[in-house]
Amino acid sequence: MTVASVQDKHILITGGASGIGAASASLLASRGAKVTVADMNVELGESLVKQINEQGHVASFVPVDVSEADSVASLFAAAKDNYGPVNIVINNAGIDHLPGALADLDDAVWHKNIAVNLTGVWYCMKQSVKQMLSNGGGHIINISSVAGIHSAPLVAPYCAAKHGVIGLTKTAAVEYAKANIRVNAVCPSFIRTPMVEKMLEQVGEKMATRLIKGNPMKRLGEADEIAATIAWLCSDESSFMTGHNVVLDGGMTA
Ligand code: NAP
Repeated sequence: MTVASVQDKHILITGGASGIGAASASLLASRGAKVTVADMNVELGESLVKQINEQGHVASFVPVDVSEADSVASLFAAAKDNYGPVNIVINNAGIDHLPGALADLDDAVWHKNIAVNLTGVWYCMKQSVKQMLSNGGGHIINISSVAGIHSAPLVAPYCAAKHGVIGLTKTAAVEYAKANIRVNAVCPSFIRTPMVEKMLEQVGEKMATRLIKGNPMKRLGEADEIAATIAWLCSDESSFMTGHNVVLDGGMTA
């Protein structure tokens, strides 16, 4: 079976050291992409890149804190030095927070979530567009969430940030369509990653079972299932798709 090609494309993935980002980095590198893995978690990021390189594929690690403009600028400069201008950027770095009703959550939770999950995407999109404009185009793939398209009781800051990501995606898609830059979003439901495993532990077994059984497929999604769709999006087979949010939720929002 032939697979959607990403051969020789320079793909930068933020939050690429863990979960959905790591699964995507490994899959894309195995299909011939040159992958820049960017993450705050240096130990995990370096170890993943070592593993990818040992398998004979091309990847480099660059540390970044996406909530800091200077850090993001340094990341994109380093990535360009390594493999030339980015062709595709996957804005995946993200955090969650402990659940709580809106009025009970500290302002610090709001500010941190907006800084990483929304402003981080903003900084990375700006740097992506600059490199892509100088290189004839590209594709930005923003990882939002089902919390970006409907309510998410008890995680209002996360929900607001992920809705913001959809707004950025749609607006940038229209602004830059003529410049051959596509912008799409991916909206997963609960996926088995370190972030979600920690959350399920924190909410306790009863709530965890309720969350999992609440999905029509009665299970969590797997990081590989999200990576497979991201890999297809990264290929030219998705060439007429822009401004779209791809929902991967086992039917949860159907
Ligand atoms: P994950 O396993 O926790 O991986 C996220 C990675 O991002 C971690 O390596 C984390 O580092 C890194 N990171 C956190 N803050 C960062 C920052 N400021 N700058 C750079 N890197 C940072 O999470 P995941 O579940 O794969 O989630 C990936 C994305 O999918 C997130 O945007 C998340 O909101 C979204 N999403 C996930 C799910 C799900 O169910 N898993 C559902 C919908 C959407 P540390 O380990 O050091 O924190």
